[in-house]
Amino acid sequence: MPVRAYIGLGSNQQNPPLQIHNALAALKQIRRTVFVGHSRLYRSRPMGPVDQPDFVNAVAAVDTCLDAHTLLSELQSIEDRQGRVRGGVRWGPRTLDLDLLLFGDEQIATDKLTVPHPGLLQRSFVLYPLYEVAPDLRFKEGKLLAELVKDHPDGELELLDNPGKRR
Ligand code: ATP
Ligand code: CA
Ligand code: CA
Repeated sequence: MPVRAYIGLGSNQQNPPLQIHNALAALKQIRRTVFVGHSRLYRSRPMGPVDQPDFVNAVAAVDTCLDAHTLLSELQSIEDRQGRVRGGVRWGPRTLDLDLLLFGDEQIATDKLTVPHPGLLQRSFVLYPLYEVAPDLRFKEGKLLAELVKDHPDGELELLDNPGKRR
């Protein structure tokens, strides 16, 4: 049976909206995986060093027959193909970042992969677009995503094509 996985996309280098669109197109090509949908694009303030451009973020949903580690490898190869340079400063600028946010209701903790993604519940640029693609999502512990979003500050998150509008 395929597993529903959610992927967080981020870019703040080399035409970020185009990077996100290209990444969404690449997600549609992953083997043994069906693309389900994606959120609108959001603009967020950088989380790491502040002297870098704003990020453009989105969340996508896929149904995959790959295991989580293989899916992560596919995501990393898409990052590589879009010019991701590794080993820079933590949370520094990048052409493309693809994080595996959720993989069904699996909990994973290996050297390479932590799922649910550890930043998920703290980051408005993940929670708001995730809520768009999965408005009924309930976490394993029973918490409703809708409740988390309602209580979470939007952290200056803006819709990309509608500056000032937050939701
Ligand atoms: P953050 O994970 O806090 O958003 P980041 O995206 O900047 O930070 P990266 O430099 O892109 O971090 O990734 C570092 C490593 O994190 C990757 O090599 C990968 O093995 C590991 N990793 C662990 N869990 C995940 C996950 N759920 N999704 C993506 N990468 C993960
Ligand atoms: Ca990230
Ligand atoms: Ca990452």
